[in-house]
Amino acid sequence: MRVVSACLMGCKCRYDGNANYVEKMARFVEAGKALPVCPEQLGGLSTPRNPAEIVGGDGFDVLDGKARVVDNQGNYVTDLFIRGAEQALHIAQAAGAKEAILKERSPSCGSTSIYDGSFSKSKRSGVGVTAALFIRNGIVVRSEESQ
Ligand code: SF4
Repeated sequence: MRVVSACLMGCKCRYDGNANYVEKMARFVEAGKALPVCPEQLGGLSTPRNPAEIVGGDGFDVLDGKARVVDNQGNYVTDLFIRGAEQALHIAQAAGAKEAILKERSPSCGSTSIYDGSFSKSKRSGVGVTAALFIRNGIVVRSEESQ
């Protein structure tokens, strides 16, 4: 079993109420080979919601209390992102998932690249909060762009 970002299988859970549909990911879910999760919704954020970025580091830094997640209105949403990551991890572990395929560049799901916190569409290398928590708990995290 693997976990996939829910937006990749067509769930309209993205911050702007849209999906990031990738047919291959939807097929994994339909075949019972993958479980969709949306950490940001699991953390209690609504859809649609303000876009958020990690300021001062990446997902590992957020988990370590060295960086924050902030939305484009200046609201701190770090706790909701961490709660969502923990909920997603709980689901992944309950399902026995050893691998996750997550949406690149998301502040939750990014696995090699995220936005840099300036809300200028600039990117930096690093992982999102959920990707970081998954990696620390032995789940192999891959980007949908590497599939
Ligand atoms: Fe997709 Fe992850 Fe963002 Fe949810 S948190 S919309 S699953 S990228």
